[in-house]
Amino acid sequence: MTPASKRPVVVTGSVALDTVKTAKGRCKDVLGGSAVYFSMACRFFHPVQLIGAVGADFPGSMKKLLAGCEIDLTGLEELPGKTFRWSGEFGPDLQNPQTLSTALNVIEHFRPKLKPAHKNPSVAFLANIDPELQWEVLSQLEKADLVACDTMNFWINQKKPAIKELLAHIDIFFLNDSEAKQLTGKANLLEAARTVKTWGPRIVAVKKGEHGSLILAQDNFYAYPAYPTESVVDPTGAGDSFAGGFLGYLASHGCDIEDPVLLKRALLHGSVMASFTVESFSTERLESLKPAEIHKRYHQYLEMMAVDLIPAFAR
Ligand code: AMP
Repeated sequence: MTPASKRPVVVTGSVALDTVKTAKGRCKDVLGGSAVYFSMACRFFHPVQLIGAVGADFPGSMKKLLAGCEIDLTGLEELPGKTFRWSGEFGPDLQNPQTLSTALNVIEHFRPKLKPAHKNPSVAFLANIDPELQWEVLSQLEKADLVACDTMNFWINQKKPAIKELLAHIDIFFLNDSEAKQLTGKANLLEAARTVKTWGPRIVAVKKGEHGSLILAQDNFYAYPAYPTESVVDPTGAGDSFAGGFLGYLASHGCDIEDPVLLKRALLHGSVMASFTVESFSTERLESLKPAEIHKRYHQYLEMMAVDLIPAFAR
């Protein structure tokens, strides 16, 4: 068996043409989708293979861009029909978007067939998409050191039982605060996370937008602020980039989620990646990003949170 550090991360999810409006402007039919944002962040830490489907209308330039970012597209199928489209609008607080329209298009009938090269990843991420499709990918994996997934209100409304079934087989579950409340009916986030954890996942990662994240792992929980950035242009994809940084970092450092230090470092790298994503529409900021910028921001973030740990009696 090839060691985890040499095996890629596999992601399945949406590859989309997004139309988004925020207080900072609007964009139409731009590159988006849960699997795209995830891959664009993960690639800085670990090789990533994308399993998904697009329609005949998916621009060649976007495929070229993804390939140019060294994302393995051998699992990206082009099917007759149109590419998945999502349209949303963010209010002035730039928190949860209002979905204006969702057109599943080719994703509605997509039945992924994994190639042998996709079946033994170090980490498999079932990004936000139909939970039945997430299940189909999961059931074709032969071995993965870690399996993680995400979902959203659209699927919770339509397919909650399928999500609960999937969660019994998941190591890390990512969801945002409103989804945690919607899924469990609990108003307190920690209580909601604990409830979700009883359904199967070893770790529950609750994303709270500009307020950071809450991670429930084993018997511990960790809460971190988001990296504060002044230029929030479009928060679309922040959650998927958070997962991309988090899981990419874990994949490149051995996947031991029982190690609290590794887990915290992974979490902080996830937050750093999300903070870059929100600085532009679509994946623009992630396209131009350099590893040195990630490194610099990670250290600024650590410094921002550091406190003097010298015990009071030693002063
Ligand atoms: P997030 O990281 O949660 O902001 O995810 C944003 C991405 O999710 C957008 O680029 C959308 O294309 C994609 N998306 C929106 N709705 C859905 C859906 N119902 N299923 C899968 N992907 C979606």
